[in-house]
Amino acid sequence: MSTGEHPAAVPFTTADYAARMARVVDEGRTAGLDGVLVTPGPDLVWLTGYQPTAITERLTMLLLTTDREPTLLVPTLERPDAEAAEGTPATTVADWPDGVDPYDVAQALLRPDGSYGVSDNAWAMHLLGLQAALPATRYQSLTQRLPMLRAVKDDNELARLAAAGAAADATYEEILGVPFGGRRESEVAADLADLLRAHGHEQVDFTVVGSGPNGANPHHEAGERVIEEGDCVVLDFGGLMFGYGSDTSRTVCVGEPTAEIREVHDVVRAAQQAGVDAVRPGVACQEVDRAARRLITEAGYGDRFIHRTGHGIGVTTHEPPYMIEGEEQPLVPGMCFSVEPGIYLAGRFGVRIEDIVAATADGGRRLNNTDHGLRLVE
Ligand code: ZN
Ligand code: ZN
Ligand code: ZN
Repeated sequence: MSTGEHPAAVPFTTADYAARMARVVDEGRTAGLDGVLVTPGPDLVWLTGYQPTAITERLTMLLLTTDREPTLLVPTLERPDAEAAEGTPATTVADWPDGVDPYDVAQALLRPDGSYGVSDNAWAMHLLGLQAALPATRYQSLTQRLPMLRAVKDDNELARLAAAGAAADATYEEILGVPFGGRRESEVAADLADLLRAHGHEQVDFTVVGSGPNGANPHHEAGERVIEEGDCVVLDFGGLMFGYGSDTSRTVCVGEPTAEIREVHDVVRAAQQAGVDAVRPGVACQEVDRAARRLITEAGYGDRFIHRTGHGIGVTTHEPPYMIEGEEQPLVPGMCFSVEPGIYLAGRFGVRIEDIVAATADGGRRLNNTDHGLRLVE
């Protein structure tokens, strides 16, 4: 395992965070809202770099309103942690001590008859607390709008996603050299996690090792099955590095593959390429799904491709936009998402190939670049 030195990320600046907050206020204004209220979760991480160590019942909320500067309301005891976050200098910090009703404190910062958007991660108890304190206010979800603002990455974010992708690629190159046959899936999964961390990930989110029939279940993670000679093995792993996600899949074979495994792998590989080739600015997300699915359907496996073709990635490993039939959101340069078709033959084996792809003005740019061929392992 070569660990080496991993380059540090270029910090985001206060201006970067201030610009993100301004975009959210504008988006809220466009939607006819007086502001947007963001509680802990991926939207808050993107907007401030702040993630409370423990998300508790205590109210933490970023208020991005049209009538005041961005305000971060936090429990008094968490104020030092909040102030240490990278983007907090772009806000005014307000706090509320234990024993005080936080909704009374929030009420003074909001319009009594205001309309506000809320982040998807807002706990019901917080929203209901605000409604009780300000009965004339109205709230709406921003499921489509907030994550779509996050979906378009700037150059610094793209550099972090590329670094995470390169670390995942190095992990794949090294896992090809570990023994598979005779070991449990969970042991290979532990190797994947160790390698991701050795290559700079601060967080491992998933390490799928689906051998033989387990590979035919896309939600299988890794279990106690002992991997056998001849098994097809789906590997799918990722996590966070510099706060941004990696997620890649390759399918390997323990020893010589059968003709059928080779054929299925060829179909998935061609479908994955077709999906990447469909990426262009202005093209609807569903066209990426259609391009990949068309090849699989033409090869006769249409009913064995049982999930969407891809998902966005950023400060989380799964987020909008989704590459799925019915998603008409056009691709915009800077969007990053997976292209991961698969074929799943129940009770026998599965094949999935996945790269993270960034949309650019010229088309799709892969952030995973390991061999797409069917690699043999021991
Ligand atoms: Zn290494
Ligand atoms: Zn994956
Ligand atoms: Zn994925």
